[in-house]
Amino acid sequence: MIRAMQPALTIRRLRLLATVAVLAAAAALRPAGAAEDAPLRLLVVTGGHGYDTNEFRAMFTTLPGIEPRFVAHPEAHAWLAADRAAEWDVLVMYDMWQPITPEVRRDFRQRIEEGKGLVALHHSLVNYQDWPLYAQIVGGRYHLEPWDDHGEKGPASTYLHDVDLKVQVLNRAHPLTLGMADFSIHDETYGGLELKPTAKPLLATQEPTSSPVIAWVKTWQKGRVAAIQLGHDKQAYQNPAYRRLLKNAIRWTAHRD
Ligand SMILES: [Zn+2]
Repeated sequence: MIRAMQPALTIRRLRLLATVAVLAAAAALRPAGAAEDAPLRLLVVTGGHGYDTNEFRAMFTTLPGIEPRFVAHPEAHAWLAADRAAEWDVLVMYDMWQPITPEVRRDFRQRIEEGKGLVALHHSLVNYQDWPLYAQIVGGRYHLEPWDDHGEKGPASTYLHDVDLKVQVLNRAHPLTLGMADFSIHDETYGGLELKPTAKPLLATQEPTSSPVIAWVKTWQKGRVAAIQLGHDKQAYQNPAYRRLLKNAIRWTAHRD
């Protein structure tokens, strides 16, 4: 009886050893910071537009499991290069910037296509007016001028400061807006935003000075993209619903939802 069981025990032990070896190999291969409980490393890009700097930075310190690195233009673009890609997980754009070289366009595109997260906040929707692919990746655009893109056309976008608006959550099942109730916020509205057909709307408003859709998600190859139109100043940063959205957007784009 004992002899008969030995081969089975040996196989079981071999399987166990093989499993341990596979797990050890996987742990050895795992890049630093990729563990499920490791802090998410943000590359937070600013520049080209003023903002409440202290309150903006303070908002990130309230988000659990987040390690922000704040970089500004024109130095920010260097962080998109392949040799810096291992140092961050999610690109959070809060810039409003136009110059971008062909090399940086390539780097930006490659990082998202490889699976880095992308969170586009507020005036970053104005970025790179002369680069059509930017709007394709982000899922929409604020247009500084009237526009015509292969027959799709529209007027210049508009903005209005200091609006009290009501926000409807369109999808309470998506990780970005999971269980969220409709909320109110004091913020700047954008009218006439272009929304690409690939964007999945998550937040809407009936405020007449605003485009109806004010937050959306999409993918770009392996990358997840979240865009949130809201976020002009500290009154938005200090709104609990805004902080929750931002935290969820970071985690979802990092594939940590
Ligand atoms: Zn603004």
